[in-house]
Amino acid sequence: MAIERTLSIIKPDGVAKNIIGEVYSRFEKAGLRVVAARMLQLTRAQAETFYGVHRERPFFRPLVEFMISGPVMAQVLEGEDAIARNREVMGATNPKDAKPGTIRADFAKTVDENVVHGSDGVETARNEIAFFFPQTDICARSR
Ligand code: GDP
Repeated sequence: MAIERTLSIIKPDGVAKNIIGEVYSRFEKAGLRVVAARMLQLTRAQAETFYGVHRERPFFRPLVEFMISGPVMAQVLEGEDAIARNREVMGATNPKDAKPGTIRADFAKTVDENVVHGSDGVETARNEIAFFFPQTDICARSR
């Protein structure tokens, strides 16, 4: 196992539900450390770029509208196997398929508004982290 970093977003529905602390608690209990964080309101251009891989999908427009509907909380998580571990903690994309005890099973109702985003691979994580955070904003957790 390797120490990895991954990009996590609490989406506008999660921020609106006021469960930032609850979600962070799930990360921390899973051994993931927050090494950078910021709240921001995505612009349409940012949301379209971030989800550019889905541009041709039928859900792309509603996804962009949703992602700009309110502020998001973006964070870099660090830990052993952080990419896969975060996705375990998040649960399946569709909350109806998510295992009990996962963030999406507990807090999301539909695939359109599923509370959290998490990078799905090493390369994606690197690009998504750089999308939100300059290297100087990521803190080494030295103690
Ligand atoms: P994730 O990595 O689990 O977030 O899933 P994807 O990267 O495949 O999709 C990005 C986001 O698009 C998901 O989190 C959903 O919010 C949305 N999405 C994905 N698939 C569907 C779908 O089939 N229908 C709808 N309405 N939204 C979807």
